[in-house]
Amino acid sequence: YELYVSAIADPAGSDRSFLYVFRDRTNEEMADEMKNEFISIVSHELRTPLASVLGFMEILLNRDVPKDKQKKYMETIYKEANRLSNLIGDFLDLQRMESGKQVYHLLPVDLSALVEGVAEQWQGKLGHRVETFIEEGLVVSADTDRMTQVMHNLCSNAVKYSPNADKIVVNVSKDGPFALIEIIDYGLGIPDEAKGRLFNKFYRVDNSDRRQIGGTGLGLSIVKEIVESHRGEISYESKLGEGSTFRVRLALYKTTSIGGKAVIVED
Ligand code: ADP
Repeated sequence: YELYVSAIADPAGSDRSFLYVFRDRTNEEMADEMKNEFISIVSHELRTPLASVLGFMEILLNRDVPKDKQKKYMETIYKEANRLSNLIGDFLDLQRMESGKQVYHLLPVDLSALVEGVAEQWQGKLGHRVETFIEEGLVVSADTDRMTQVMHNLCSNAVKYSPNADKIVVNVSKDGPFALIEIIDYGLGIPDEAKGRLFNKFYRVDNSDRRQIGGTGLGLSIVKEIVESHRGEISYESKLGEGSTFRVRLALYKTTSIGGKAVIVED
């Protein structure tokens, strides 16, 4: 709130009166903050890949470039344009979630099948085998698309940040009243200095091992937004140089098994 106090002359003749005005600035400030943030992101994050696209296009259009180099330049243009597209997509997703405009269609979802489906899609990606240990029939209340996005982001990170490993592990198990998902990798690990910042927007661990690995620094913020909107929890454990485990906990629906199929029990 903002408080304005002005001294005004009192027509009734007393020495002095005050006029107090309270103004709720929450919405205005939030809108301003979002605009400022967007401008700073546009200038830093979008300009770099765009400059690279324009630069290489200009060379290709105006100079005689040997065939083998042409392909290399076009690959760079493709990579940078892709990065731009992902960045804009992730940024809009996050903005929608943070402004409370994201609608979650919560329905009973067979989490075991959802995770298995995503894990399958990562099989063989960037030379990684995906080992799965999935307890069947665990049902949670979730938005299928958004929960699929969570799994893709976590699997993508596990594979990306373990360039020298050949497998990741995906577990789903029952943990009391929760379904526990674990995504385990044997890669670069996360330094202690990232603690408390890892899920922040645009935060990326910066060291020579990772400079080549593409990303926007938005993936984990999106994961956290989605998981917490499902009243779930996300955490991680990591050892530098050995690997990382990301854990997602979601409340289980009470289910029972009838003829091998999970059936929801109403309270
Ligand atoms: P990015 O698009 O950079 O991957 P994320 O928000 O998904 O963005 O992750 C933020 C940062 O956290 C990454 O840049 C990376 O440094 C670190 N990180 C995320 N997942 C892992 C992982 N499984 N192993 C090592 N580092 C990770």
